[in-house]
Amino acid sequence: MSVLVLAEVDNGVLSPSTARIVQAASQLGPLDILVPGSAEAAAAAAALSPVRKVLRSADNALADALAEVLFSLAPGYEYVVSGASSAGKDVMPRLAARLDIQPVTDIVAIDGDNHFTRPIYAGNALETLFDGQAQHVLTFRASAFPPAAIGNAAPVEVLEHPVISAARFIAAHRSADDVIDLATAQIVVGGGVSFRSAEGFQLIEKLGKILGAAIGATRAAVDAGYAPNDWQVGQTGKIIAPDLYIAIGISGALQHLAGIQGAKKIIAINSDPEAPIAKIADVALIGDLFEIVPQLTAELEKMGIKR
Ligand SMILES: Cc1cc2nc3c(=O)[nH]c(=O)nc-3n(C[C@H](O)[C@H](O)[C@H](O)COP(=O)(O)OP(=O)(O)OC[C@H]3O[C@@H](n4cnc5c(N)ncnc54)[C@H](O)[C@@H]3O)c2cc1C
Repeated sequence: MSVLVLAEVDNGVLSPSTARIVQAASQLGPLDILVPGSAEAAAAAAALSPVRKVLRSADNALADALAEVLFSLAPGYEYVVSGASSAGKDVMPRLAARLDIQPVTDIVAIDGDNHFTRPIYAGNALETLFDGQAQHVLTFRASAFPPAAIGNAAPVEVLEHPVISAARFIAAHRSADDVIDLATAQIVVGGGVSFRSAEGFQLIEKLGKILGAAIGATRAAVDAGYAPNDWQVGQTGKIIAPDLYIAIGISGALQHLAGIQGAKKIIAINSDPEAPIAKIADVALIGDLFEIVPQLTAELEKMGIKR
């Protein structure tokens, strides 16, 4: 009943979501973790309490190469697991195809005995399914699980394997140096197309900085070029589950709501009291965002709420 987790490494650093995936997957059995690349990330993975052994693979392995590494390791494991992130979505279907099994994706709860809960219809319903296959390829939504505790020193084994890849890794660039991970952020400030420009969006970035929040955006804002693609929240963007989501100038289209259903509290700032987001928000501030957001930011600054 052993489990192999694929860790997510971001610019050489173990992504915070990995601790959550490890915590979730540890419910399935004794757990090893495959860490692509960096020694620093491998050491961070070894510190996670449920980890039995860290397997460290070659640096900068791309999705097709990682799928091959997982494929070679898979016979030793009943479960192969990753986050339901862009990286997981890139690797796990390739692995499932190689193993000729059906993956179960976007799991938000383990209900015991290979029963899993996952959202369907863009998050409008939850299904519980039984995976009756002999081996399982699973992806978990990190935001649905707490992080694993740290305080372990699991052994790290370096894997010697050829990197078999049709593509060649050239470089990775981070867009900003202090970006907070949307998938695991406790506070997210989201902006819509009503910010009217990339410069307008800086209002939201300033507020987000003061609150120590990650920044999200609607697809309309991303399509208009006001926010980068990796800020998109929703059905075709990221799924978030913060303690607080502040939705500013966002109508609350179904496809956006699909990404924020895990938010514990929602504050909406919108000029239209009839906007769908205003109806589902815990608090709705009705007014012009170009007045409210600078005022709110200035008040928080005055109060010294700088995280
Ligand atoms: C297949 C598919 C997938 C999609 N996936 C996604 C997805 O993943 N994520 C996503 O977000 N969308 C997605 N969409 C798009 C979605 O349907 C909406 O078009 C989009 O979410 C709307 O973005 P918005 O709220 O910024 O814009 P709008 O719907 O135009 O809303 C703007 C809001 O701002 C308010 N407003 C305007 N001016 C001000 C002001 N000065 N002050 C305060 N409030 C103001 C308005 O009252 C309105 O409520 C998808 C669509 C399709 C078809």
